[in-house]
Amino acid sequence: MEEKICCICGKEFEGWGNNPYPLELKGCCCDDCNSSIVIPTRLSYLNEAAKKMKGEK
Ligand SMILES: [Zn+2]
Repeated sequence: MEEKICCICGKEFEGWGNNPYPLELKGCCCDDCNSSIVIPTRLSYLNEAAKKMKGEK
């Protein structure tokens, strides 16, 4: 299995990795960072975007 480097914590991990957007635009991150950092950040981004869309009308 190919080893990859997590672009967030810098650790090696195995597997496909995860899309770290919006924290990082390139590379991929490990499952730990994805579930503990990337997903909460992505949800807060979505919430902010939803608020802005509602606020403009
Ligand atoms: Zn990581």
